[in-house]
Amino acid sequence: MTDLSQARQALKQHFGYESFRPGQEGVVEAILSGRDALAVMPTGAGKSVCYQVPGVVLNGLAIVVSPLVSLMGDQVRALLDAGIRGAYLNSTLTPGQQSTVLRRALDGAYQIMYVAPERLSDPRFIEFAREAAIPLVAVDEAHCVSQWGQDFRPSYLTIGDFIALLPTRPIVAAFTATATARVRADIMRLLDLRNPYEVVTGFDRPNLYFGVERLDPKRKIARIAAYALEHAGDSGIVYCSTRKDTDKVHAALLEAGIRSARYHAGMPTAERQESQRAFIADDAPVMVATNAFGMGIDKSNVRYVIHHNMPGSIEAYYQEAGRAGRDGEPSTCLLYWSDGDVSTCRFFIEQESGNEELSTEEAEAVRASRRRLLAAMTGYCHTTGCLRRYILDYFGEEAGTAPQADDVGAEGAPSAGCANCSNCAGEFESMDVTDTALAVMRCVQELHGRFGKGMVVDVLRGSQNAKLLDMHLEEAASYNTVNVPAAQVKEVIELLAASGYLLITEGTYPVVGLGPRAREAADEGFSLSMKRVLRKPERRRDGVGGGHVFGSSGAPAGDADPALFERLRTLRKQLADEAGKPPYIVFSDAALRDMCARKPATDEEFLEVSGVGATKLARYGEAFLAEIAAYEREGAGS
Ligand code: ADP
Repeated sequence: MTDLSQARQALKQHFGYESFRPGQEGVVEAILSGRDALAVMPTGAGKSVCYQVPGVVLNGLAIVVSPLVSLMGDQVRALLDAGIRGAYLNSTLTPGQQSTVLRRALDGAYQIMYVAPERLSDPRFIEFAREAAIPLVAVDEAHCVSQWGQDFRPSYLTIGDFIALLPTRPIVAAFTATATARVRADIMRLLDLRNPYEVVTGFDRPNLYFGVERLDPKRKIARIAAYALEHAGDSGIVYCSTRKDTDKVHAALLEAGIRSARYHAGMPTAERQESQRAFIADDAPVMVATNAFGMGIDKSNVRYVIHHNMPGSIEAYYQEAGRAGRDGEPSTCLLYWSDGDVSTCRFFIEQESGNEELSTEEAEAVRASRRRLLAAMTGYCHTTGCLRRYILDYFGEEAGTAPQADDVGAEGAPSAGCANCSNCAGEFESMDVTDTALAVMRCVQELHGRFGKGMVVDVLRGSQNAKLLDMHLEEAASYNTVNVPAAQVKEVIELLAASGYLLITEGTYPVVGLGPRAREAADEGFSLSMKRVLRKPERRRDGVGGGHVFGSSGAPAGDADPALFERLRTLRKQLADEAGKPPYIVFSDAALRDMCARKPATDEEFLEVSGVGATKLARYGEAFLAEIAAYEREGAGS
């Protein structure tokens, strides 16, 4: 049997999947043929399979280096549940347990072992590794090796040394979801990858619906609660930018009868751990959290991620939103934002650099780069084009190709729309605001960037306010040249700032000045358009996503057996609780849906369900087949 067909067999037997996904097969094949590999794949693309399958097929002990200590237990439980002999070694084990693991590993008890990077410089571990047969070292979250990435971990720099100490050089495979060209080069160099097979799969996550809506802060919570109620039973994450908001939203959801947990850095460790446990076990399907939550979370059945506030960058947003739908099932990502979110971000940018040990120029460089990240993020909120396209272009820019934030205010609906975001779904129309924009530009220039947004609006609308008259601003040429509501002028100002025509700094006193692209606004072809909600949000039942193609249940259209799904979900929860495992490890939502579609009646049919391998059949087949049979009988009788 060839290596690849062995790999396919392992994929089927242990994971219950018929075929590798695009990107996976090449990596697996490279590793099995003895070649290093570097795989850049978005969250949910299935990186784990790329090293777990070779780990099963290759003789010896595959080492997986991962920074996510809190995740290792779950990852190994999932392996064991799939009939793969896995183990982990980290500081959560007692010294006695660690010795046992190492001894058993030398006896060949395991196929795959997860370790934290710190472990690789521990003399005892090195001694062990020199004795063990290690065919593969897989480095997860490989971007942590680079100082250019967000999550630099100095301990990752020891991985190369560790590998060099082994008597036989193993295959080295590196995996990451976030890698710019620069970070990728660092990974190659610092992990000393030799002629690696490289694959960069697209960043697109077609199963995610993206929605953006500007909402008055007072209305956000009600909308979030309504969404959660309507999707009761579904697992979701609500991200808030502050601890205070987290507490508030959490309290409101509990009040509304939604089983939710809460997580932020201000809570005692024990409480945080309990929240995380409850969320993973689906005891509290909804998690309300700050961005402190998520890094160690592998839950595949998160059906929605709602942002109660706008984050500071597209990177942060896509990472957080991307925690939805890892199982590939349709899932929803909603961003509710308000002007306050933007000023909060600006405020933090101007504040933050003060407390770092940076020179003045360095601090300013950091601020400048954060401002750019923020401008791209606000651009996402304002764009009338396809939201998915916007994100993908942004990451394209990162890799050094397309310009950024440029389709902000682009005319009309996107020509190549994704049909699965709030803009493409036609929930907004775009309104030409070029005239207002030009008036704003003239006014800001005339005021020499000395005033805030409010004053610019007042001047343009010909206000009689005392401060304005005091400074004789009624004599300005742009005074009383605009006849649209103040809120709309403000929005145009924000839009101009988001696209770089204006620059708003937020010190103690926020000031509107000309931005780097101010000149372009004088070009003949300049135009600007703005989003306007088409339908009344109150009348929509499904938050922003009311009109999206998957319907309000978040289930694919045509997938009609919610009652059976509910029963299988309950059974899964019950079996998981009995075994002390998270439900998503027993079966993914995707597997449950496939069961609903196929309604298997025999072991053979059960094996055909995507996500069911031999081990899962043996472990859970009987219970699920019985439940499905019972459901069919009752259905027939009614
Ligand atoms: P990543 O580590 O890239 O974020 P995971 O390894 O967690 O992604 O995989 C995401 C989900 O996709 C998991 O539920 C996994 O079981 C599933 N999956 C992986 N490979 C396949 C495949 N070939 N066919 C179907 N589902 C797959």
